[in-house]
Amino acid sequence: MAYQSLARRQPAAEIRGSAATQTSHAAALLSIPPATGTKPGAGGGGRATPGGSMPPRSAAPFQRKDNLMTNCVDLFDIWGAEKALQRDKPLEAVRFNGQEVAGLLFTSTTVLAKLHYNDEPEARGYVHCNSEGCVLCRLGRTAEEKALLPVYLPVQDTIGVIAISPTSRPGALRPQLLPLLRSGKRLVVFIKKADRMTFQVGSKEVDPTVYQCDRLIEDFERRLEAGEIDLTSVYPRLSNDALAKVPGIATMLLLKGVKVGAGNQG
Ligand SMILES: [Zn+2]
Repeated sequence: MAYQSLARRQPAAEIRGSAATQTSHAAALLSIPPATGTKPGAGGGGRATPGGSMPPRSAAPFQRKDNLMTNCVDLFDIWGAEKALQRDKPLEAVRFNGQEVAGLLFTSTTVLAKLHYNDEPEARGYVHCNSEGCVLCRLGRTAEEKALLPVYLPVQDTIGVIAISPTSRPGALRPQLLPLLRSGKRLVVFIKKADRMTFQVGSKEVDPTVYQCDRLIEDFERRLEAGEIDLTSVYPRLSNDALAKVPGIATMLLLKGVKVGAGNQG
């Protein structure tokens, strides 16, 4: 189900457009070498320096203003462009590294994915299970089924994917997020991974005048429904041959006598 959109204070496309057009302006400003001489804000720009020549008194204010203009850039020009770029970056999994993550719930649409966790430094993190003949399954490693839920990340101004385990034990994400999703309210959730097994989840109803993510969310939902977005793409897919080349996995395959590419690979 899709939630209603947030207030339309300023459409995202307008923000993006304005940032894009202003970038070249900012770049032009930044490419101008900084003015030499008195720094703006150093105090007493018109004061004579020992041995230096003092400009005519009447010209000083204009010169200072000119220097200030040369060095000034609008924050929205330089950082606005950065935010606009993030809107187009590939979908990524939300990582919980001990810091609280804020995410705006806008859908309960998820995709299930079977994932293995690898501890090998060459391929650390979750990878998709290759199902039949999966090298990691054949090594006896359990695949976890996760529900992949897209959320809007206000801090990063992008959409990320949260992986939710099916477990309902206390402290897990599922029993804490489900009631919030069911509430139908426009909520921002604050998720912090307290330890390997426990998440702390807080929530707050969103002030619709604060966020400007309508377009981003609408566009995302439209593309998701059209099959243009693959939520599972946030985790890598490695072929059995590629997995078998990871040193730690290769060693385990050798030790266990598991053959890859012997007609039993997925
Ligand atoms: Zn597997």
